[in-house]
Amino acid sequence: MNPSNPICPLCGGTKTAGTTTFTADLGSGVVVVRRVRATVCSQCGEEWIDDTAARPDVHHSSIIRALYHRPVLLA
Ligand SMILES: [Zn+2]
Repeated sequence: MNPSNPICPLCGGTKTAGTTTFTADLGSGVVVVRRVRATVCSQCGEEWIDDTAARPDVHHSSIIRALYHRPVLLA
């Protein structure tokens, strides 16, 4: 993905910075992380989570790990 050419590959619309809801199915439950930084198409609404948010060393994975070790079903 080239951030200097933010054209939606689906509809050709313009991709803009925004947020989305990230979900991860852990098998025993589903973790939902709201307001994850993402690129959102202003035309069709397709979302791409930023590479920095998707990397396993960022704080979202810490949240998922913490939840994973607790017997709590979120969904
Ligand atoms: Zn689009």
